[in-house]
Amino acid sequence: MEDLSLLIDLHKPGYRQGPGGDAQTELALRLTTCDVNADLRVADIGCGTGASTLFLATTLKNAHVTAIDLLPDFLVTLTQRAGEQGLATRISTQTCSMDDLPFSDAQLDLIWSEGAVYNIGFETGIQLWRRFLKPRGFLAVSEITWTTASRPEAIQSYWDAAYPEIATASEKIGILERHGYTPLGYLILPEECWTTGYYQPLQDRFPDFLARHEHSEAAQAIVAAEEEEIALYQRYKDFFSYGFYIAQKSE
Ligand code: SAH
Repeated sequence: MEDLSLLIDLHKPGYRQGPGGDAQTELALRLTTCDVNADLRVADIGCGTGASTLFLATTLKNAHVTAIDLLPDFLVTLTQRAGEQGLATRISTQTCSMDDLPFSDAQLDLIWSEGAVYNIGFETGIQLWRRFLKPRGFLAVSEITWTTASRPEAIQSYWDAAYPEIATASEKIGILERHGYTPLGYLILPEECWTTGYYQPLQDRFPDFLARHEHSEAAQAIVAAEEEEIALYQRYKDFFSYGFYIAQKSE
């Protein structure tokens, strides 16, 4: 089994595929000032198995949410969960890349994206997506962020190699302003979004995952890489987290 299939097999049973939490999704949604009873058109980009999609469809009572992901396996799980929660008619899924979205200009009231825009880069993503928003439409995006002005060289060079766009919140907010958005709010994901929200359930799945794949070298390598990421987070969590950026399309 190739690495991507293994990664999908490991992450598909997860409620989330990245750090986050319903309380932070809720707070970010409140910061948009969206009317929760309005007939809104919403896109959740890089939705994974749909933690935020399901939350948005539940809270925004008359909205339609289009959930977008590159991996159809995740969307199958999302569709199943939507059905179980009675949300099937208010969520649709589309398998496509976030740099080739199936929307027309000025179609969306709200663009949501948690832990996913890094796949094309924050600055590229927020620029590409802007045209799909109605005038004064809302954007809520989480993005890896430095939480202090300086940090140890080891974590700086790790992120410089992994995702050089990592920056402080003030820099990310400046990027939003330069590309036609008015910042409305910012929050930082607390530690439990990484631990109880993501890493702990992931680690709990390791034994079954390894057993399913008969402890193959490839499966062990994937678990080792995840453990390394977790150790890195534990060591340097004072210096980075996901920032949640909430903004409104300006004229
Ligand atoms: N928002 C979810 C998933 C975050 S993980 C959550 O918070 O739980 C990042 C997601 O982005 C994965 O589901 C991955 O399949 C998806 N992804 C990666 N590259 C993509 C691309 N180019 N277009 C759309 N989705 C992509």
